[in-house]
Amino acid sequence: MNNVYLLNNPNKHWIKQSASKAVKQSIMNAHRAYQTFFKNKQGCPKFKKKSGIGSYYLIGTIHIQRHRIQLPKLGWIKLKERGYIPTNNIKSATVIREFDRYYVSVLINCECPLLSKPEQTEGIGIDLGLKEAVFTHSGVKIRSFKTNQTIIKLDKSLKRQQRKLSRKKKGSHNWYKQLLKVQRLYKRIKNIKKDIKRKGILSILRTNPQFITVENLNIKGMMRNKRLANSFQQIGLGYMVEWLKIKCRDYGIELRQVDRFYPSSQICSDCGHIQPMPLNQRTYHCNHCGMIKDRDINASINLKQATDYTVIV
Ligand SMILES: [Zn+2]
Repeated sequence: MNNVYLLNNPNKHWIKQSASKAVKQSIMNAHRAYQTFFKNKQGCPKFKKKSGIGSYYLIGTIHIQRHRIQLPKLGWIKLKERGYIPTNNIKSATVIREFDRYYVSVLINCECPLLSKPEQTEGIGIDLGLKEAVFTHSGVKIRSFKTNQTIIKLDKSLKRQQRKLSRKKKGSHNWYKQLLKVQRLYKRIKNIKKDIKRKGILSILRTNPQFITVENLNIKGMMRNKRLANSFQQIGLGYMVEWLKIKCRDYGIELRQVDRFYPSSQICSDCGHIQPMPLNQRTYHCNHCGMIKDRDINASINLKQATDYTVIV
Protein backbone atom coordinates (compact mmCIF):
# COMPACT_ATOMS: atom_id res chain seq x y z
CA MET A 1 0.00 0.00 0.00
CA ASN A 2 1.32 3.42 -0.86
CA ASN A 3 1.36 5.86 2.00
CA VAL A 4 1.81 8.97 -0.18
CA TYR A 5 -1.06 7.98 -2.43
CA LEU A 6 -3.37 7.66 0.54
CA LEU A 7 -2.40 11.00 2.02
CA ASN A 8 -2.82 12.89 -1.23
CA ASN A 9 -6.08 11.30 -2.24
CA PRO A 10 -8.83 13.93 -1.77
CA ASN A 11 -11.36 11.19 -0.95
CA LYS A 12 -9.23 9.95 1.92
CA HIS A 13 -8.77 13.24 3.75
CA TRP A 14 -10.06 11.75 6.98
CA ILE A 15 -6.72 9.99 7.29
CA LYS A 16 -5.07 13.30 8.13
CA GLN A 17 -7.45 13.80 11.03
CA SER A 18 -5.59 11.23 13.09
CA ALA A 19 -1.98 11.31 14.22
CA SER A 20 0.58 10.39 11.56
CA LYS A 21 2.11 7.74 13.80
CA ALA A 22 -1.25 6.04 14.10
CA VAL A 23 -1.57 5.85 10.30
CA LYS A 24 1.96 4.54 10.02
CA GLN A 25 1.32 1.89 12.62
CA SER A 26 -1.84 0.64 10.97
CA ILE A 27 -0.04 0.39 7.62
CA MET A 28 2.66 -1.61 9.37
CA ASN A 29 0.01 -3.85 10.89
CA ALA A 30 -1.55 -4.43 7.49
CA HIS A 31 1.88 -5.20 6.06
CA ARG A 32 2.54 -7.78 8.75
CA ALA A 33 -0.89 -9.32 8.30
CA TYR A 34 -0.31 -9.73 4.56
CA GLN A 35 3.13 -11.20 5.11
CA THR A 36 1.84 -13.88 7.46
CA PHE A 37 -1.01 -14.49 5.02
CA PHE A 38 1.43 -15.19 2.18
CA LYS A 39 3.92 -17.13 4.29
CA ASN A 40 1.89 -19.31 6.59
CA LYS A 41 -1.35 -19.30 4.64
CA GLN A 42 -3.19 -17.67 7.50
CA GLY A 43 -6.49 -15.97 6.77
CA CYS A 44 -6.52 -13.06 4.35
CA PRO A 45 -6.80 -9.70 6.17
CA LYS A 46 -10.23 -8.18 5.98
CA PHE A 47 -11.22 -4.52 5.84
CA LYS A 48 -12.24 -3.19 9.22
CA LYS A 49 -15.67 -1.82 9.81
CA LYS A 50 -15.86 1.69 11.16
CA SER A 51 -18.59 0.76 13.62
CA GLY A 52 -18.42 -1.30 16.77
CA ILE A 53 -15.06 -2.24 18.23
CA GLY A 54 -11.75 -0.80 17.14
CA SER A 55 -8.42 0.48 18.37
CA TYR A 56 -5.39 2.45 17.30
CA TYR A 57 -1.85 2.81 18.46
CA LEU A 58 -0.09 6.07 19.37
CA ILE A 59 3.45 7.06 20.17
CA GLY A 60 4.77 10.55 20.62
CA THR A 61 4.04 13.18 23.20
CA ILE A 62 1.80 11.58 25.76
CA HIS A 63 1.38 13.29 29.09
CA ILE A 64 -0.65 12.09 31.98
CA GLN A 65 -1.97 13.94 34.98
CA ARG A 66 -4.11 12.63 37.73
CA HIS A 67 -7.40 13.36 36.00
CA ARG A 68 -6.51 13.75 32.33
CA ILE A 69 -4.34 12.48 29.50
CA GLN A 70 -2.79 14.30 26.53
CA LEU A 71 -2.72 12.39 23.28
CA PRO A 72 -1.37 13.47 19.87
CA LYS A 73 -3.99 15.36 17.78
CA LEU A 74 -6.64 14.86 20.47
CA GLY A 75 -5.23 17.12 23.18
CA TRP A 76 -6.19 16.85 26.81
CA ILE A 77 -8.92 14.35 27.55
CA LYS A 78 -10.58 13.81 30.90
CA LEU A 79 -10.22 10.42 32.50
CA LYS A 80 -12.99 8.72 34.35
CA GLU A 81 -10.79 6.63 36.60
CA ARG A 82 -8.47 9.07 38.30
CA GLY A 83 -4.98 8.69 39.68
CA TYR A 84 -4.80 5.22 38.25
CA ILE A 85 -2.34 5.44 35.35
CA PRO A 86 1.34 6.03 36.23
CA THR A 87 2.39 9.52 35.16
CA ASN A 88 5.92 9.04 33.84
CA ASN A 89 7.94 6.79 31.53
CA ILE A 90 5.10 6.45 29.05
CA LYS A 91 6.16 4.60 25.91
CA SER A 92 2.99 4.39 23.89
CA ALA A 93 -0.76 4.39 24.15
CA THR A 94 -3.54 2.42 22.53
CA VAL A 95 -6.97 3.96 22.25
CA ILE A 96 -9.74 1.40 22.19
CA ARG A 97 -13.39 1.88 21.42
CA GLU A 98 -15.94 -0.64 22.52
CA PHE A 99 -19.34 0.47 21.29
CA ASP A 100 -20.08 3.76 23.07
CA ARG A 101 -17.08 3.80 25.38
CA TYR A 102 -13.46 4.70 24.93
CA TYR A 103 -10.54 3.20 26.79
CA VAL A 104 -6.88 4.03 26.78
CA SER A 105 -4.19 1.54 27.61
CA VAL A 106 -0.62 2.77 28.09
CA LEU A 107 2.71 1.00 27.89
CA ILE A 108 5.12 2.09 30.59
CA ASN A 109 8.72 1.34 31.42
CA CYS A 110 9.14 0.26 35.01
CA GLU A 111 10.60 -2.34 37.30
CA CYS A 112 8.27 -5.22 38.05
CA PRO A 113 7.41 -5.31 41.74
CA LEU A 114 8.24 -8.67 43.26
CA LEU A 115 5.15 -10.59 44.21
CA SER A 116 5.15 -11.78 47.77
CA LYS A 117 4.38 -15.45 47.96
CA PRO A 118 3.10 -17.71 50.71
CA GLU A 119 4.77 -21.06 51.23
CA GLN A 120 4.58 -23.35 48.24
CA THR A 121 1.79 -25.90 48.34
CA GLU A 122 1.47 -29.06 46.29
CA GLY A 123 0.40 -29.04 42.65
CA ILE A 124 -3.12 -28.46 41.45
CA GLY A 125 -5.08 -30.08 38.66
CA ILE A 126 -7.69 -27.97 36.96
CA ASP A 127 -10.49 -29.71 35.15
CA LEU A 128 -12.00 -27.39 32.60
CA GLY A 129 -15.52 -28.65 32.24
CA LEU A 130 -18.49 -27.30 30.40
CA LYS A 131 -20.88 -27.58 33.32
CA GLU A 132 -18.89 -26.23 36.21
CA ALA A 133 -16.08 -24.00 35.08
CA VAL A 134 -13.15 -25.07 37.23
CA PHE A 135 -12.44 -27.75 39.80
CA THR A 136 -9.32 -28.17 41.81
CA HIS A 137 -8.56 -31.30 43.80
CA SER A 138 -9.66 -29.70 47.06
CA GLY A 139 -13.08 -29.04 45.56
CA VAL A 140 -12.70 -25.31 44.96
CA LYS A 141 -14.63 -24.26 41.93
CA ILE A 142 -15.51 -21.25 39.94
CA ARG A 143 -19.26 -21.24 39.98
CA SER A 144 -21.08 -21.93 36.81
CA PHE A 145 -22.58 -18.93 35.09
CA LYS A 146 -25.81 -20.84 34.75
CA THR A 147 -26.51 -20.53 38.46
CA ASN A 148 -25.36 -16.93 38.85
CA GLN A 149 -28.49 -14.90 39.53
CA THR A 150 -27.14 -11.61 38.18
CA ILE A 151 -26.14 -13.18 34.89
CA ILE A 152 -29.44 -15.00 34.53
CA LYS A 153 -31.31 -11.74 35.01
CA LEU A 154 -29.10 -9.85 32.59
CA ASP A 155 -29.34 -12.64 30.01
CA LYS A 156 -33.10 -12.48 30.14
CA SER A 157 -33.07 -8.75 29.75
CA LEU A 158 -30.61 -9.03 26.85
CA LYS A 159 -32.97 -11.39 25.07
CA ARG A 160 -35.85 -8.97 25.56
CA GLN A 161 -33.86 -6.02 24.26
CA GLN A 162 -32.65 -8.03 21.27
CA ARG A 163 -36.23 -8.90 20.44
CA LYS A 164 -37.13 -5.21 20.60
CA LEU A 165 -34.22 -4.44 18.29
CA SER A 166 -35.36 -6.95 15.70
CA ARG A 167 -38.78 -5.28 15.53
CA LYS A 168 -37.33 -1.86 14.72
CA LYS A 169 -36.57 -0.68 11.20
CA LYS A 170 -32.91 -1.31 10.53
CA GLY A 171 -30.87 1.87 10.25
CA SER A 172 -33.52 4.13 11.77
CA HIS A 173 -32.86 6.47 14.66
CA ASN A 174 -34.74 4.27 17.12
CA TRP A 175 -32.93 1.22 15.86
CA TYR A 176 -29.59 2.80 16.72
CA LYS A 177 -30.85 3.78 20.17
CA GLN A 178 -31.97 0.21 20.78
CA LEU A 179 -28.71 -1.17 19.38
CA LEU A 180 -26.78 0.80 21.96
CA LYS A 181 -28.90 -0.68 24.75
CA VAL A 182 -28.18 -4.20 23.51
CA GLN A 183 -24.48 -3.50 23.20
CA ARG A 184 -24.25 -2.06 26.70
CA LEU A 185 -25.98 -5.06 28.22
CA TYR A 186 -23.83 -7.44 26.25
CA LYS A 187 -20.72 -5.69 27.47
CA ARG A 188 -21.89 -5.76 31.05
CA ILE A 189 -22.50 -9.51 30.99
CA LYS A 190 -19.10 -10.01 29.41
CA ASN A 191 -17.40 -7.93 32.09
CA ILE A 192 -19.08 -9.82 34.93
CA LYS A 193 -18.03 -13.16 33.48
CA LYS A 194 -14.49 -11.95 32.95
CA ASP A 195 -14.34 -10.76 36.53
CA ILE A 196 -15.51 -14.11 37.90
CA LYS A 197 -12.97 -15.98 35.82
CA ARG A 198 -10.07 -13.74 36.75
CA LYS A 199 -10.90 -13.79 40.44
CA GLY A 200 -11.22 -17.56 40.39
CA ILE A 201 -7.85 -17.99 38.75
CA LEU A 202 -6.28 -15.49 41.11
CA SER A 203 -7.61 -17.32 44.16
CA ILE A 204 -5.89 -20.48 42.90
CA LEU A 205 -2.62 -18.69 42.18
CA ARG A 206 -2.56 -16.94 45.54
CA THR A 207 -2.06 -20.29 47.27
CA ASN A 208 1.22 -20.59 45.32
CA PRO A 209 0.99 -24.17 44.07
CA GLN A 210 4.08 -26.01 42.83
CA PHE A 211 2.51 -26.51 39.43
CA ILE A 212 -0.85 -26.35 37.69
CA THR A 213 -2.03 -28.99 35.25
CA VAL A 214 -4.71 -28.40 32.65
CA GLU A 215 -6.05 -30.40 29.76
CA ASN A 216 -5.20 -29.52 26.21
CA LEU A 217 -8.57 -28.47 24.93
CA ASN A 218 -9.57 -29.21 21.41
CA ILE A 219 -11.12 -25.79 20.89
CA LYS A 220 -11.59 -26.00 17.14
CA GLY A 221 -13.17 -29.42 17.44
CA MET A 222 -15.50 -28.25 20.18
CA MET A 223 -16.58 -25.26 18.14
CA ARG A 224 -17.42 -27.55 15.25
CA ASN A 225 -19.93 -29.38 17.43
CA LYS A 226 -22.95 -27.11 17.11
CA ARG A 227 -24.57 -28.20 20.35
CA LEU A 228 -21.44 -27.68 22.38
CA ALA A 229 -20.26 -24.52 20.63
CA ASN A 230 -22.74 -22.19 22.29
CA SER A 231 -22.19 -23.25 25.88
CA PHE A 232 -18.50 -23.41 25.17
CA GLN A 233 -18.53 -19.80 24.03
CA GLN A 234 -20.68 -18.76 26.99
CA ILE A 235 -18.07 -20.04 29.41
CA GLY A 236 -15.08 -18.93 27.39
CA LEU A 237 -12.63 -21.66 28.32
CA GLY A 238 -10.14 -20.48 25.74
CA TYR A 239 -9.91 -17.15 27.49
CA MET A 240 -9.42 -18.87 30.81
CA VAL A 241 -6.45 -20.89 29.55
CA GLU A 242 -4.90 -17.78 28.01
CA TRP A 243 -5.32 -15.84 31.24
CA LEU A 244 -3.87 -18.74 33.20
CA LYS A 245 -0.80 -18.67 30.97
CA ILE A 246 -0.27 -14.94 31.49
CA LYS A 247 -0.71 -15.15 35.25
CA CYS A 248 1.46 -18.24 35.67
CA ARG A 249 4.22 -16.34 33.94
CA ASP A 250 3.73 -13.41 36.33
CA TYR A 251 3.72 -15.59 39.42
CA GLY A 252 6.45 -17.94 38.24
CA ILE A 253 4.31 -21.05 38.48
CA GLU A 254 4.83 -24.03 36.22
CA LEU A 255 1.87 -24.67 33.93
CA ARG A 256 1.55 -28.20 32.62
CA GLN A 257 -0.65 -29.45 29.85
CA VAL A 258 -1.68 -33.05 29.33
CA ASP A 259 -2.65 -34.56 26.03
CA ARG A 260 -6.27 -34.18 25.06
CA PHE A 261 -6.68 -37.97 24.89
CA TYR A 262 -5.57 -38.48 28.48
CA PRO A 263 -8.62 -40.16 30.08
CA SER A 264 -8.69 -37.87 33.13
CA SER A 265 -12.29 -38.66 34.06
CA GLN A 266 -12.07 -42.42 33.44
CA ILE A 267 -9.14 -43.29 35.70
CA CYS A 268 -9.62 -44.10 39.37
CA SER A 269 -7.46 -41.64 41.26
CA ASP A 270 -6.74 -44.21 44.00
CA CYS A 271 -5.82 -47.43 42.20
CA GLY A 272 -5.45 -46.44 38.53
CA HIS A 273 -8.28 -48.66 37.32
CA ILE A 274 -9.85 -47.43 34.08
CA GLN A 275 -13.57 -47.70 33.47
CA PRO A 276 -15.90 -45.92 31.01
CA MET A 277 -17.69 -42.87 32.41
CA PRO A 278 -20.77 -41.67 30.54
CA LEU A 279 -21.26 -37.90 30.74
CA ASN A 280 -24.42 -38.11 32.85
CA GLN A 281 -22.67 -40.08 35.62
CA ARG A 282 -21.66 -37.43 38.13
CA THR A 283 -19.93 -39.62 40.74
CA TYR A 284 -17.06 -41.99 40.16
CA HIS A 285 -17.66 -45.38 41.73
CA CYS A 286 -14.61 -47.56 41.22
CA ASN A 287 -15.37 -51.20 40.30
CA HIS A 288 -11.95 -52.31 41.42
CA CYS A 289 -11.31 -50.72 44.82
CA GLY A 290 -14.70 -49.24 45.64
CA MET A 291 -13.66 -45.61 45.84
CA ILE A 292 -16.48 -43.08 45.56
CA LYS A 293 -15.69 -39.52 44.53
CA ASP A 294 -17.28 -36.66 42.66
CA ARG A 295 -16.57 -36.98 38.96
CA ASP A 296 -14.85 -33.61 38.59
CA ILE A 297 -12.79 -33.92 41.76
CA ASN A 298 -11.59 -37.33 40.62
CA ALA A 299 -10.64 -35.86 37.24
CA SER A 300 -8.67 -33.00 38.76
CA ILE A 301 -6.75 -35.38 41.05
CA ASN A 302 -5.87 -37.42 37.97
CA LEU A 303 -4.67 -34.32 36.19
CA LYS A 304 -2.53 -33.46 39.18
CA GLN A 305 -1.01 -36.94 39.21
CA ALA A 306 -0.44 -37.08 35.45
CA THR A 307 3.13 -37.93 34.55
CA ASP A 308 2.90 -37.46 30.80
CA TYR A 309 2.71 -33.71 30.19
CA THR A 310 4.33 -30.78 28.40
CA VAL A 311 5.39 -27.67 30.28
CA ILE A 312 3.99 -24.63 28.53
CA VAL A 313 4.96 -21.89 30.97
ZN1 LIG B 1 -10.07 -47.70 42.29
